[in-house]
Amino acid sequence: MLKCVLIANRGEIASRIIRTAKRMGLRAIAVYSQADREAPHVRQADAAYFIGPAPARESYLRADRILEAALAAGADCVHPGYGFLSENAEFAEACAAAGLVFIGPSPAAIRAMGLKDGAKALMARAGVPVVPGYHGAEQDADFLAARAAETGWPVLIKAVAGGGGKGMRRVDAPGDFAGALESARREALAAFGDGRVLIEKYVSAPRHIEVQVFGDSHGGAVHLFERDCSLQRRHQKVMEEAPAPGMSAAMRGAMCGAAVEAAKAVGYAGAGTVEFIAEGGAELTGNFWFMEMNTRLQVEHPVTEAVTGIDLVEWQFRIAAGERLPLRQEDIRVSGHAVEARLYAEDPENGFLPSTGKLWALRFPQGEGVRVDAGAAEGDEVTPFYDPMIAKIIAHGATRDEALDRLAGALGRMLAAGPRCNTAFLKALCQAEDFRAGNFDTGFIGGHLEALGAVKQGVDEGAVMLGAVVEVMRKSMGIKGAAGDPWSDADAFQFSGARRTIEPLIVNGAPAQAPVEWIYGNAVAGSGPARTSAERAGSFWRGADSALTAVETDSGTLVLRAGRQTSVRLAGLERGAGDDAEDQGAAARSPMHGRLVSLLVKTGDAVVRGQRVAIVEAMKMEHALTAPCAGRVAGISAAEGAQVAQGAVIVTIEPDTGDKT
Ligand code: ADP
Ligand code: ADP
Ligand code: MG
Repeated sequence: MLKCVLIANRGEIASRIIRTAKRMGLRAIAVYSQADREAPHVRQADAAYFIGPAPARESYLRADRILEAALAAGADCVHPGYGFLSENAEFAEACAAAGLVFIGPSPAAIRAMGLKDGAKALMARAGVPVVPGYHGAEQDADFLAARAAETGWPVLIKAVAGGGGKGMRRVDAPGDFAGALESARREALAAFGDGRVLIEKYVSAPRHIEVQVFGDSHGGAVHLFERDCSLQRRHQKVMEEAPAPGMSAAMRGAMCGAAVEAAKAVGYAGAGTVEFIAEGGAELTGNFWFMEMNTRLQVEHPVTEAVTGIDLVEWQFRIAAGERLPLRQEDIRVSGHAVEARLYAEDPENGFLPSTGKLWALRFPQGEGVRVDAGAAEGDEVTPFYDPMIAKIIAHGATRDEALDRLAGALGRMLAAGPRCNTAFLKALCQAEDFRAGNFDTGFIGGHLEALGAVKQGVDEGAVMLGAVVEVMRKSMGIKGAAGDPWSDADAFQFSGARRTIEPLIVNGAPAQAPVEWIYGNAVAGSGPARTSAERAGSFWRGADSALTAVETDSGTLVLRAGRQTSVRLAGLERGAGDDAEDQGAAARSPMHGRLVSLLVKTGDAVVRGQRVAIVEAMKMEHALTAPCAGRVAGISAAEGAQVAQGAVIVTIEPDTGDKT
């Protein structure tokens, strides 16, 4: 049996693997980058090794340093988690060469299945239906455009090495092909070090249904049934469930059977997922096509664990140690229904822009059937270097409705303050009528953004008033960094009677104000239903409306209501960096901390309003900066390759007279 595992990963998956390793009596070794010195996985491991600077390329993707750490720690196996080196055949080989067991399939199976083009060719030969298109070696742009035209619009350009929805572009018309190809290639090269792509017919309004498989090194292979991962945004999974709603027994049998065949075709040992795209939304037609196989543990594996009662990481360890599959196919059964929501540090009201910063509050709900796999703890920093996923909330119930109710309830009770989070969005998704009715496809989120609250929304007046009253209370108590104390400050403090002030505020970065009354040294803000005082409740504050929780930060107060965050601070107080709306001016600014990967203009160039002028990459996603107005490029303030701060001016534009908007 294996005795000591090095986990070549970070975040929630590192923590999750450590949990099972320890339960099985294995010593767990973590590795960490500069940005993760204080991360939970480092605290939870039996020992931890520093492997380099924050960017993944210099740490979590450095096979040499990871293997050095494994040998120094006396590990006998390496678990790669998902992402990073998990589907890297050279890494699996390097582990073996160093005398370490790689927890995953053989390098040959990774090679056969790890790249989308090869996997499709293999599956087609094995008689499994694959999505039509071009998956050959020729990469010339004109050649690919011709194959796309043959396939018929719309098509999907996909990175051969892709994962996590990266390096993928839908193209609706020939004119958009060249630009989409270039950007898909650039993203793929940055994320996977491989810019090759394939072309697929875009299946309209499909469902994403995948099958969990396991093989052992004795020729055994089973499936652990399917998961439905159709709730996606930009081809990235947001919520996943098991089993798939509306799937007939015949279709389940065919799909799971095809998946086991796929595993057998490559002598697969370990955990893998065979992904299919299925025709039809609410009514599945029974038609499905192979998309890809992920030769690793999947982010959404907990829903399978919930319905089968199997610990997939335990199976991975046992199979890697040479054991036979622990159960026969007929002994693997599904009980109830499970749903998982991915909690991301991102702002659904602002185009899902990833959000960084300190987690001033992070409290996870507990409840019957609820499991939380977290990668961060309260007080931790969400940095721009990795995926913005903070945690996964998983709910299990006897029925789909019960599971979704439990998940919605858990999300409603969750507190996450600091970076903007998608909590409220996920809760709305759990409760969305059509989704509840089983009437959905991969376009569901994109088609219901408004109903799901993923659009700019009005200011939460109640939250503003609670924030205002907490701020004046904090000021009167001499908050850290604030000027003065109650005796020297003009905050209307007095011993008796009421006195009114109008407090100038900055709410979500914009100027606002709140009427505040002082009654016997106690502040009350607002009027009507928003009128509230504030009381401390543990480390937080509460007001008249029990749905609101206020959280103190160095630079102000964050008020949460059902996962939606309102930031409030008193105007004119010098403390912290603040988040004042800056004068946008005629400049293209970086929407977040990241790396300037590409400058698309040079000084003196004429630009039209909305033209792409630069590309910033952060959290493995590309963000295009556009010209806010028509004009001429007056200056460029950062070089390609440079790290840029959130809000930093990258390109200054001298507006054409007549278009100053
Ligand atoms: P799952 O299908 O398990 O949900 P995803 O395809 O969403 O997995 O990818 C899981 C994570 O791993 C994502 O954060 C994604 O960005 C990352 N990832 C996937 N493939 C790779 C790869 N080849 N290299 C680096 N990161 C990857
Ligand atoms: P990744 O490696 O990034 O997970 P996949 O090939 O699994 O890439 O595709 C990711 C998602 O993109 C799928 O879950 C599906 O929603 C969508 N998608 C992929 N291929 C197609 C297609 N041919 N037609 C329509 N949607 C597709
Ligand atoms: Mg996929």
